[in-house]
Amino acid sequence: MQSKMLINGQLVNGEGTSQPVLNPSLGTALLHINEASSEQVDAAVQAADAAFESWSQTAPKDRSLLLLRLADAIEAQAETFAKLESDNCGKPYAAALGDEIPAIADVFRFFAGASRCLNGSAAGEYLPGHTSMIRRDPIGVVASIAPWNYPLMMVAWKIAPALAAGNTVVLKPSEQTPLTALKLGELLAEIFPAGVVNIVFGRGPSVGQPLTTHSKVRMVSLTGSVATGSNIISSTADTVKRMHMELGGKAPVLIFDDADIDAAVEGIRSFGFYNAGQDCTAACRIYAQKGIYQKFVKALGEAVSSIKYGLQDDPETELGPLITAEHRDRVDGFVQRAAAQPHISVVTGGKKVAGDGFFFEPTVLAGARQDDEIVQREVFGPVVSVTEFEDEAQALEWANDSDYGLASSVWTQDVGRAHRLAARLQYGCTWVNTHFMLVSEMPHGGQKLSGYGKDMSMYGLEDYTAVRHIMFKH
Ligand code: NAD
Repeated sequence: MQSKMLINGQLVNGEGTSQPVLNPSLGTALLHINEASSEQVDAAVQAADAAFESWSQTAPKDRSLLLLRLADAIEAQAETFAKLESDNCGKPYAAALGDEIPAIADVFRFFAGASRCLNGSAAGEYLPGHTSMIRRDPIGVVASIAPWNYPLMMVAWKIAPALAAGNTVVLKPSEQTPLTALKLGELLAEIFPAGVVNIVFGRGPSVGQPLTTHSKVRMVSLTGSVATGSNIISSTADTVKRMHMELGGKAPVLIFDDADIDAAVEGIRSFGFYNAGQDCTAACRIYAQKGIYQKFVKALGEAVSSIKYGLQDDPETELGPLITAEHRDRVDGFVQRAAAQPHISVVTGGKKVAGDGFFFEPTVLAGARQDDEIVQREVFGPVVSVTEFEDEAQALEWANDSDYGLASSVWTQDVGRAHRLAARLQYGCTWVNTHFMLVSEMPHGGQKLSGYGKDMSMYGLEDYTAVRHIMFKH
């Protein structure tokens, strides 16, 4: 298993403390890896800084070619990447191979093309006797910090636009799930000039902190929790770095009496429980209108109780474990506190699964009220709550009554209602009669505590550039 970091084109072992990397399905260590020392973090940033001059001047068509080669190389080793990802996250191998790897290759291909297509205002004489034009230039060294839920996909979302725009990168994958990023380091070392992408391994305080606060880092791009985002923003405030923050979520799902209930049930069975619900857009905060509430809760309970959990390499497995024992305890805490409320009923699930892996039963909690913790806080597990609502105004008010603003969905046959709600929901994305679907051409990103900045799309590429005004006196 490739466990070396990538610094200045060389694959090197970490010189810091050793950390276990687990298989959460079994609760055992796959291997131990040494963290980067502070000298190695500095060396990675210095290498990225030194490579910036040349990479930022490389023509977009040539940067594009390397990103295309990387996409091809990932696809050529799709099974290897999928196996590493499923072993390290416990996610079903078939989903890693069939859903994630193709989407990852597509992100690199999209940004390969996008790098050649930046646009902006027309050059013109906005002051007589002067010609103005806009440039979009790369920013410099980007520190990219990734989470554990979709390890390689989040790496792609971060490094593809940064590199396409001409920046250089120091990437830190999650200390819990570094294996696919470290494997990617082998390909990056072959394809990209030394220093353009560097990878360091380690925890937030020991490696993330010295990386994000380094004086030569010009931008920090994080996908992670609100607490980490807030910590990074405050600890880098004195150096005024560019920030790109993709933080938590608590997606509301509004199901109206006129919705196709079978489709809504099937949608939540899939999109509330995909990746064991460890997804910032998971369809987890359900509001069902009073006319269909009882029928819907019953059908959802039956559908969710049929979800098969198990080992990542069992082809029957739909739901894997949670990422760590601590995270499972946290999820369990939310469920037990909710279940102790007299007005909440556990329709299905509700317990940890006995054994060494970190499994939790797929769970539906009905009767939740708007101010309940289970409705307000991000659980990040295979748990959905259902709340009954009266009418459209109440559904909208409750949906927007959240600290988060990442994703939402509306299920109705009334196209006017769908448009009205889509216009007023305070979320980065609203799906109608579906949930969770992402494409490389469209932006993904939040509002409120879910953060700011966009992943994917031309908006994502623009986030990794500085807009500059150039003016000529005639
Ligand atoms: P986390 O915040 O614990 O860790 C994210 C990354 O930040 C890890 O690599 C971690 O080592 C690093 N980190 C922690 N402290 C740091 C510090 N002080 N300085 C620099 N780096 C530091 O998040 P997680 O538990 O890995 O991921 C789950 C969270 O991510 C959830 O809240 C989820 O909603 C969010 N998420 C958001 C999106 C999105 O697109 N908005 C996507 C996926 C996950």
